[in-house]
Amino acid sequence: MTEKLRDQTTSSIAEVLTGLRETAAWQERVYKEIHTHPELSFQETKTAALAATKLKEFGYEVLEGLGRTGVVGILRNGEGQTVLARADMDALPVRENTGLPYASTLTAVDDSGNTVNVAHACAHDAHVTCLLGAAELLAKTRQSWGGTFIALFQPAEEVAGGAKAMIDGGLRERIPKPDVAFAQHVLAYPAGKIGTQTGPVLSAGDSIRITLYGKGAHGSMPHNSVDPVVLAALVVLRLQTIVSRETKPGEFAVLTVGSSIAGSKSNIIPDRAVLLANLRTYDMAVRRRMIDSIERMVKAECEASGSPRPPEFDYFDQYPLTDNHPGVTDRITSAFRSHFGKEPVFDLGRLTASEDFSDIPNAFGIPYTYWGVGGTDPEKYQRALDAGRVEQDIPVNHSEFFAPVIEPTLSNGTQALVIAALTYLVK
Ligand code: ZN
Ligand code: ZN
Repeated sequence: MTEKLRDQTTSSIAEVLTGLRETAAWQERVYKEIHTHPELSFQETKTAALAATKLKEFGYEVLEGLGRTGVVGILRNGEGQTVLARADMDALPVRENTGLPYASTLTAVDDSGNTVNVAHACAHDAHVTCLLGAAELLAKTRQSWGGTFIALFQPAEEVAGGAKAMIDGGLRERIPKPDVAFAQHVLAYPAGKIGTQTGPVLSAGDSIRITLYGKGAHGSMPHNSVDPVVLAALVVLRLQTIVSRETKPGEFAVLTVGSSIAGSKSNIIPDRAVLLANLRTYDMAVRRRMIDSIERMVKAECEASGSPRPPEFDYFDQYPLTDNHPGVTDRITSAFRSHFGKEPVFDLGRLTASEDFSDIPNAFGIPYTYWGVGGTDPEKYQRALDAGRVEQDIPVNHSEFFAPVIEPTLSNGTQALVIAALTYLVK
């Protein structure tokens, strides 16, 4: 970036952020409103309606019902590049235990028909609020920038289906092609901190339901059976060798069998077992090899046990790799550093969590970057750090105790989006 462009960016950012305090006043209200009324994946109708209403108020062209509950606001402001920023809207089936005055007490019916508690335990309420704030700030200061800003509110991140649903719902045909895309996530780092990372930042995630077939029999007559419980145990142990024996030391791979279910009684040998496995990778070649290994090992164990039917593999909750573009990330990191200062902007490193955001930029073939926004009370974090108890004392995303502080989390997340957008939208 040239000196002149950098100066222009800095002055545009200052102009756009003049309204931050006014925006923060309604943001706190909206944040609490969404926090108290969390909605499960693909049920985000109230949150979507709220986002759409605000965007219309700000003067955006608004598309609704994309991928069931997705909302997109488009602000065309003359010549220039097109920037897309995305927020996810869904909450989790968690019983909130934060003790906050605005804690959720709601329940909802999930896809399986079960009534479950619902809470914003992953801060998607903050993501929505920050993006709405940035959308307003940009709409109020059109003279300070040029181009097109797209604010995208995505359903169902937690089940890995929302980004794809929006693309399948015609996103590509209905919005101008962006040049670059951004997303952010509130994480358990101290509020005030912003973490960026070049290259892979979140792992690709795959879940697999493996059905192993045996032959049922009375527990007293094992010779009449093909015991799927023993078969499942052998498979679980065998799968452990994929990371320990087949993956090159230093290469990242996680394979967890999180559920193993078979039978219901001590004296009946069941006729099948179902395993639920989850894998995380940063490299698509490693991912492919692991999936091949899983299938090979499971088939071979079934054969060795004399299984009457081949095993079945059902892939679900598949998350793409989040692989931050180096050029875009460098630009955004230095813009963050010049605004927030050097110290608050840290290297996020690679996280083993997963996200479906990258499905959107990947569908357009455009570069993107994804950063983390600290949300924990900084004093509380420091005390835990001094005591060497960060892992024990600081609740992380998805915990029933996860309770980001409202400020400076919201204003930092809002500013980060504005800064990132203006880095590309400066005149
Ligand atoms: Zn989450
Ligand atoms: Zn999340």
